[in-house]
Amino acid sequence: MGKKPLLEFTDRGIYCDKGRFYIDPWKPVDDAVITHAHGDHAYPGNNHYLAHHFSKEVLLYRLGDIQLQTVAYGEKVVKNGVEISLHPAGHVIGSAQIRIAYQGEVWVVSGDYKVEDDGISAPFEPVPCHHFISECTFGMPVYKWKPQKEVFDDINKWWAGNLQNGAATVLVGYSLGKAQRILQNLDLSIGKVYTHGVIENTNEALRRNGIRLNPTERITPDTPKEDIRKGIVIAPPSSVGSPWMRRFQPYSFGYCSGWMAIRGAKKRRAADRGFVLSDHADWDGLISAIDATGCECVYLTHGYTATFTRYLNEAGYNAREVHTLYGDDEDPGMPESPEFAGEQNSETNASNVLSFGEDLGEAGGPAL
Ligand SMILES: [Zn+2]
Ligand SMILES: [Zn+2]
Repeated sequence: MGKKPLLEFTDRGIYCDKGRFYIDPWKPVDDAVITHAHGDHAYPGNNHYLAHHFSKEVLLYRLGDIQLQTVAYGEKVVKNGVEISLHPAGHVIGSAQIRIAYQGEVWVVSGDYKVEDDGISAPFEPVPCHHFISECTFGMPVYKWKPQKEVFDDINKWWAGNLQNGAATVLVGYSLGKAQRILQNLDLSIGKVYTHGVIENTNEALRRNGIRLNPTERITPDTPKEDIRKGIVIAPPSSVGSPWMRRFQPYSFGYCSGWMAIRGAKKRRAADRGFVLSDHADWDGLISAIDATGCECVYLTHGYTATFTRYLNEAGYNAREVHTLYGDDEDPGMPESPEFAGEQNSETNASNVLSFGEDLGEAGGPAL
C-alpha cells in the first residue's frame, strides 16, 4: 500500500513520475510524449517531443522548430527505466495510443481513437493493460456510426447531383484527419479535388512524410471558378461563411462530423447537408475498445465523461472520470489553433471525478 501510481494527473497533464515525462501536456514541460498532432493534444513550448514518424512533418508545420524524436508503432523507448511504446489509435494518420510499462504494471493512454478502419490511418489495435485512460467524446448511446462506405456513397451521390444542378460542391472537415479521409474516399471519376490553403498545407506536410494522397489542387485567387464548379472543394471549419467560400456561389455546402448525428447540429452550421462521419469511436466502439484491453480500471478523460462513467460502473467496469483540458476536434466551432483548445463539451458529476493533482489511486483498483 502507499505505492505511487505509475501515472498521475497534474495541472500540466498526465504525468509519469518514475519516467519523468508527460503525455499530451497542455502546459510547457521538459519531456512530452504526444499521441497525435491535433492542437488540443500537441501544444507548443515543450523542450522535447516524442511522437510517431507519421506525425513528424505535421508537428513541425504546426509547432515550428521543435526538438522531436519519432518512432514506429511498437518500437520501445526507455526513459529512466520506464518502457514507452506507441500503438495504432486509428484516429488520424500518425495517431497513437501510448503504452507505459514498469515492473510488470501496464498503463495505456488512448489519446483520441476510432475502431473503424478508415483506410488511411493505421487501424486501431487494442493493447492489453491494467489501466486504460480513454477519451469518450461520443460516449452516449445516440452516437452510432454507419460504415464509412455508406457515408461516402451518400457524399459521392450528393456531389454528382450538384454537378447536374450547376452548383459547386464544398465539403467541410477538420484539416488533419477528416480532410484526408474525405480525399481518399471520394469517387474521383466524378471530378477533381480542390483544397483550401490550410488543408493543402497539411496535405503537403503529410506528403513530405511519405504518405501517398490522391491528387489535389490548391485554390488560389487565379483558379477559374468554372473549373472549381466541375470539381469538389475540401475546406476547413474556419472557412464556413467566409468571403472565401461565398465566392463559389452558387454552391451546396456539406459538413462532415460526428455531431451531425444530432438534429440541430446541421442547422447551427447552416449546412445544406450534414454527413455523420467521425474520427472518434462511437458508443459501441468505445465499449468494445475498453473491453478488449481487459483493464482493471478505466479513466475517462474527455467527452461525455459523466454519463459514460456511470454506464460503465453499472455494467461492472471499474470506471473513473478525470478532468483534463483536451478539447473536441470535431466541434464545428472549434478553431484549429491550440490557444483556443481546451474548451470542454463534457458535463460534470461531482462524485467520481478526479481533479488535477489528485492521485489515480492504488494500482490494481482505486476506491470509488
Ligand atoms: Zn484528435
Ligand atoms: Zn481529443
